[in-house]
Amino acid sequence: MNLCDIKTIKQLMAMFSLNFRKEFGQNFLIDNMVVESIADECCDDQSSTILEIGPGAGSLTRELALRYKNVIAVEIDNGLIPLLKYTLDEHKNVKVVNADVMKIDLRELLGDAFESGPVSVCANLPYYITTPIMMMLLESALPFDYITIMIQSEVADRLCAKAGSKAYGAITAVLNYYAEAEKLFVVRSDRFLPEPKVDSTVIRIKLHKERPYHPLNEEMFFKTIRAAFEQRRKTLPNALSAVFTELQKDQITSIITDVCGLPADIRGERLSCEQFVSLSDELYKAISK
Ligand code: SAM
Repeated sequence: MNLCDIKTIKQLMAMFSLNFRKEFGQNFLIDNMVVESIADECCDDQSSTILEIGPGAGSLTRELALRYKNVIAVEIDNGLIPLLKYTLDEHKNVKVVNADVMKIDLRELLGDAFESGPVSVCANLPYYITTPIMMMLLESALPFDYITIMIQSEVADRLCAKAGSKAYGAITAVLNYYAEAEKLFVVRSDRFLPEPKVDSTVIRIKLHKERPYHPLNEEMFFKTIRAAFEQRRKTLPNALSAVFTELQKDQITSIITDVCGLPADIRGERLSCEQFVSLSDELYKAISK
């Protein structure tokens, strides 16, 4: 059974009385080469367990099952569960779980997997919830090796942007705190059923084994990044003084220029994650004095 064949997918959906559910971002891949490439490139260790989010009809799940030790596939749509049992029947190393990945306890679900080897994530994510899912995975502090996700190309550009570029934003700086992201390839919108409005890009996020950055106060670090990007067009002293009202603007400017060695007219988008750590540390010290 070719799970990327449009006729087959439509027949399966009819057989299980299902429709594509927009509210769950159901756009299924219809290109075997794309599915195989994602499965090939999502991880470099065959002994891994792969957490797949949103298996859909199971096309990517099947390719993952052929390459890696185990696959745990979490699908929110209970209507798809019998269909997945049917399409994945011969793959005994796949476990399908009917749950919302944002609500399930991943530590409990993946406890045994983490004990028995490396664990990575692979997903063709629904557009509406890409960033929350990615942030939830990063903030979970679970020791994933890789998180490989297919997302809207525009979001991929942002996540993989270099400091100072137009696409760079708060989310890029936050991501770099936890990991490094690289673009693998673009997938045109006509490679999905139904066809979405925009192209997608597969990115691979490699989590830092050891965190390279250690801010004095993590909350302050994230607050500094948010403040810098909330008013993107303002210079950094203006953007920060709108948020850190405990400090005088002169004090903030002096921290930016004299202590951190940055120009007074710099904007947040030019700062790397490392520079945000130094800046937030100095702000934290000044506020806690
Ligand atoms: N992996 C399949 C493919 O590539 O053809 C389907 C991808 S489709 C873009 C997204 C899938 O994620 C759908 O099956 C949808 O029902 C599921 N999904 C959406 N939100 C979810 C959530 N919060 N938790 C788990 N699965 C979710």
